[in-house]
Amino acid sequence: MTRIDELPVRDELRGMTPYGAPELDAPVRLNVNESPYALPEWLAERIAERVRETVRGLNRYPDRDAGELRAALAAYLGRTTGLAVDKTHIWPANGSNEVIQQLLQAFGGPGRTALGFEPSYSVHPLIARGTGTGWISVPRDAHFAIDVPAARAALAEHRPDIVFLTSPNNPTGTAVAEQTVLALYEAAQAVKPCLVIVDEAYGEFSGRPPLVPLVEGRPHLVVTRTMSKAFGAAGLRLGYLAAAPAVVDAVRLVRLPYHLSSVTQAIALTVLEHAEVLLTYVEQLKSERARLVTELREMGYDITDSDANFVQFGRFEDSHRAWEALLAHGVLVRDSGVPGRLRVCAGTPAENDAFLAAARAVVKECAD
Ligand code: PMP
Repeated sequence: MTRIDELPVRDELRGMTPYGAPELDAPVRLNVNESPYALPEWLAERIAERVRETVRGLNRYPDRDAGELRAALAAYLGRTTGLAVDKTHIWPANGSNEVIQQLLQAFGGPGRTALGFEPSYSVHPLIARGTGTGWISVPRDAHFAIDVPAARAALAEHRPDIVFLTSPNNPTGTAVAEQTVLALYEAAQAVKPCLVIVDEAYGEFSGRPPLVPLVEGRPHLVVTRTMSKAFGAAGLRLGYLAAAPAVVDAVRLVRLPYHLSSVTQAIALTVLEHAEVLLTYVEQLKSERARLVTELREMGYDITDSDANFVQFGRFEDSHRAWEALLAHGVLVRDSGVPGRLRVCAGTPAENDAFLAAARAVVKECAD
């Protein structure tokens, strides 16, 4: 079999391995921040009906600019975040990962750089690499927050073309304060025109005001969101951005024609019609997150404050060994590479019980 390295592949891809959390068949899987709840049966039926209608027209290409879906997403943001915009401010793609890829295709690329505050979502540097964009990593402080003076200094030194602010941040769960977003937006623009991408994939789980409305009046600010988390529709692959219409126009220059299938658009529209029902799960998951935090703290774990549907916990001398020990108890969590820490996402109450029992056993095993 020919190895990748024997192919005339791009130099920067040599020696790399594909991104991905291990897809293991553990009894309790709390490793990729999905919703543990399947869609309700009545909604599954409605989606099936809508798909049946849609597939009758599969001989035709889909709506290339997804107009109806963009209007529905704008209405959803209007209802839930107060951002009053029409569809010209919204752009959807196959997951927010693809939205971010399109942004870097349009605003990054060879000779340009993107800057992120790490540890953070590991797909941001991956997309940078894939689009030929340079990556600049700036460390977070000891509490996994962004140190604003250090961030300003990094912006002045590196003069990036793109800045990522992830709030709530993955894998730490920490939110970025609105004042920090505004301060860093201004600081970045003072150096040079720079696209600031606020990745708000977990925004619906946060106790803080949404950052989406900040796009109003800020032509270089983009907020990305997803239906993978709060809507419990990770399998759908639907993410979107809110920004000034010119940003959407720029992204349309690089998107592949007909990138969003008519089936995806139809399902997303049906799910959005029932957004409020699905968002009730968010409240349940938030209270389960609070329970995880309380009980893990009682066991002596060190917890990072979380505004997301997951919790970072530690500290372990060897986090990979702790990950293996939890797996031996049937629970799959995420070793996201942060030294001494692991990440667990809130599941159903029964799954969380199983995780907490395993976490308790691991404390004992470590003490022995
Ligand atoms: N941003 C962050 C911070 C994430 O954690 C994730 C998913 N793990 C995404 C974006 C991508 O989500 P999706 O492509 O499913 O919309």
